[in-house]
Amino acid sequence: MSVSVALFTSDLRLHDNPPLRAALASADEVVPLFVRDRAIESAGFAAPNRQAFLADCLAGLDAGLRERGGRLVLRSGAVTDEVCRVAAETGAADVHMAAGVSAYAQHREERLRAALEADGRRLCVHDAVITAVPPGAVTPASSDHFAVFTPYFRRWSEERLRTVQGAPRTVRVPGAARSERLPSRTDVSGVSEGLAAGGEREGRARWSAWQRNGLAGYEDHHDDLPGDLTSRLSPHLHFGTLSPVELVHGASRRGGAGADAFVRQLCWRDFHHQVLAARPAAASADYRSQHDRWRSERSAAREITAWKEGRTGYPVIDAAMRQLRHEGWMHNRGRLLTASFLAKTLYVDWRVGARYFLELLVDGDVANNQLNWQWVAGTGTDSRPNRVFNPVTQGRRYDPQGDYVRRWVPELAGLVGAAAHEPWKLRGPERAAYDYPGPLLELSDGLARFKQARGRA
Ligand code: FAD
Repeated sequence: MSVSVALFTSDLRLHDNPPLRAALASADEVVPLFVRDRAIESAGFAAPNRQAFLADCLAGLDAGLRERGGRLVLRSGAVTDEVCRVAAETGAADVHMAAGVSAYAQHREERLRAALEADGRRLCVHDAVITAVPPGAVTPASSDHFAVFTPYFRRWSEERLRTVQGAPRTVRVPGAARSERLPSRTDVSGVSEGLAAGGEREGRARWSAWQRNGLAGYEDHHDDLPGDLTSRLSPHLHFGTLSPVELVHGASRRGGAGADAFVRQLCWRDFHHQVLAARPAAASADYRSQHDRWRSERSAAREITAWKEGRTGYPVIDAAMRQLRHEGWMHNRGRLLTASFLAKTLYVDWRVGARYFLELLVDGDVANNQLNWQWVAGTGTDSRPNRVFNPVTQGRRYDPQGDYVRRWVPELAGLVGAAAHEPWKLRGPERAAYDYPGPLLELSDGLARFKQARGRA
């Protein structure tokens, strides 16, 4: 009886999963394996919201495998040791896994390949599982990656994507493959109250509903803060309960301006992955330094705390930060505004904000979090690195009635329209009726400091 291992990483799905299909095609029995990586947990990257969502995903994967006659095998420890151990226990000749992107994932792959080969086994790595187009598949003539989105998008759009694979009908798992008990989301403490449920079934249901009800209007409504009219598929893409290849094919088949705009956003995701794959240091170092001398965390401590707690006195910033804490997710427009407020208006190092986002975001990933933060801070790939978002004009534009503000900042209940974004303009007893802080700083002061710091004053 031949055996292969299908090692799941950021591809926690049965549909359109090339490593799983290849493992099934190459052997009579397959060990569907997930390793709870102690290195990731001890590096502090396993935030409660992602741990809870992961628990849902693993339970869903196990349930899906059981419906097909199999089960999930869970181990905890160092990935290389655990995979080699499972392969030895079950006599597996091959291990199949998705190609990773981050520096950590690339090293993990190298270590695993070397260890398996030393045991006479083979590691088979599959592309286009975590991204639609593999990092490095399209490059400009003069570099190993694209540093500008638009030309990348043009080339990315011309790529022929692989066809989507269905879920397997049956999975036979060798009896010798021992598993630990699967975690449950109730094992995790510190989870956001409004955290969405994870798992492939949930992801597929959301994707189907989105295609029917959201996609067509995406172009017009994606910035509508109170409408909440984006797909919310990011956690499913992060954990791989949905396949980016399947999403691009599905949206392209439907066509129209909404689908085109959505596919463009999926391309942004691949764009950041290809930047990170080529420049792993961009996870923590400036991609394009502006020679910033950020305010120290100590001198800006009061402002950083107010920003984290949603008490800056700028309603749209506070609403978005409270949404993050409550749901472990934030609307993209909110992410742009809150990041610009911290990095530019308060002139605090983008890494401080990126770290806080990673503590809470259920979709938090190194490529898209760090590089979006750098984009906003002007140290990344934005061609206008010194633009600063004004939270008042942006709030009025994307939340004109103040519904988003009132949803997350109940202290401002009763303020409608522009007033919801400028409560400080109220006078006398009217102002006193609102138990809400005044602005942390004047926007013009923040702007002047930033311009001076960037040599634009
Ligand atoms: P939709 O608008 O429905 O878009 C569909 C998909 O396209 C998303 O699920 C996502 O996978 C991708 N996408 C959309 N916008 C972007 C973008 N700007 N960059 C990369 N991919 C994008 N996204 C993450 O997945 N993880 C992060 O850690 C993350 N951190 C961010 C931090 C900052 C400061 C900013 C400005 C953006 C960040 N984003 C991150 C990008 C974006 O905000 C989220 O992907 C999006 O809000 C998720 O909501 P959605 O699924 O409804 O997106």
